[in-house]
Amino acid sequence: MGITFPRFGTSHVAIGNLLKWMGHDVIKPPDITEKTISLGTKNSPELACFPLKITTGSFIEALDSGADSILMAGGVGPCRFGYYGYLQKGALTQMGYKFDSFIIEPPSRHPKQAYHTIKSLKKKTPWHTVMKYVYIVLTKQKYIDKMHKLVLETAPKEVGEIKSFKLFNEFVQKVEPVREVKSLKEIYQHYADKLYKFQKVTPKVKIKLLGEIYLVCEPAANLYIEKKLAALGVEVQRTIYLGEWFDGHVVKDIIPILKEKETEKTAKSYLSQMVGGHGQETVAQTVQASQQGFDGVIQVYPFTCTPEILAQGIITKVSKDKKIPVLTLSMDEHSAQAGIDTRLEAFVDLIYQKKLQNERGEALWVMGS
Ligand code: SF4
Repeated sequence: MGITFPRFGTSHVAIGNLLKWMGHDVIKPPDITEKTISLGTKNSPELACFPLKITTGSFIEALDSGADSILMAGGVGPCRFGYYGYLQKGALTQMGYKFDSFIIEPPSRHPKQAYHTIKSLKKKTPWHTVMKYVYIVLTKQKYIDKMHKLVLETAPKEVGEIKSFKLFNEFVQKVEPVREVKSLKEIYQHYADKLYKFQKVTPKVKIKLLGEIYLVCEPAANLYIEKKLAALGVEVQRTIYLGEWFDGHVVKDIIPILKEKETEKTAKSYLSQMVGGHGQETVAQTVQASQQGFDGVIQVYPFTCTPEILAQGIITKVSKDKKIPVLTLSMDEHSAQAGIDTRLEAFVDLIYQKKLQNERGEALWVMGS
């Protein structure tokens, strides 16, 4: 008996802590495997978004392990995320599962609903203690994100077997039970010192990884793209991190005066409207990548993701205008490791050759021309 929630990058640490500290038994969502994806695919509409299928599979596995409650985020806006929780509740109930469902709608749009859901989730924990817990888990998430950024920097600089990702997993396990911010800082420094020692060679190229949030942040959904790129000698800069996302999309949504207009401004000449998901960010960040010295951009998104499909058409133009190579990977349950790896290898090889040509001052060629 216990509560579960969707598997999504490293968020299980913060969400699991918060629920546990508020007095819940937590059934952590299991690691995503082929079985998870196959269970979710079998029990979701065929054209549903890939993240919905994965999280449905993950809920089935957690319910089979004894979960009796599900926590899910709601959403508003021109894409399908807001329906996930309700669709999943219907599908799982039809399959015969009995459980309580907690769907937290965005507090800025549905404050009453969000308040009542959080109130029932917090049980008898006083509000000021809840705030303290939120502060600790957010700080923890930010240290995890900071460590992840460092790993993406050090992994391609390693010689031989890459150890950075292993150390990252160790770091996440170490910080999971921690409740004091001071200890988080000390553990971070200990692991950062270890990672800095790995820096032996210069990465071949630097790539920006962007697209739909779930595919960018969940390694099992993007077929471990960061590891593959590191092995190819690529320094990756990921555009979405969960701590920053929470600040930008939850906190700043509640206090709009804090919102920066950078994305809208940068994307404006190509896409002047919010199109749902991270579509507008994808366009803005591709424009920025061309100004920030990146050698290329990789866009990952779930097959059928409308905001990213729209953005893809636009970034093809940005790629030509700004002469920045772009590779688009649309993924779903049929995507295979070998196919993705081959495309990554070819893309990295092409942009590396282009970089060498540029350095030697030879004639430029443009990707896709
Ligand atoms: S952003 Fe894309 S994948 Fe995510 S819910 Fe919206 S349409 Fe689906």
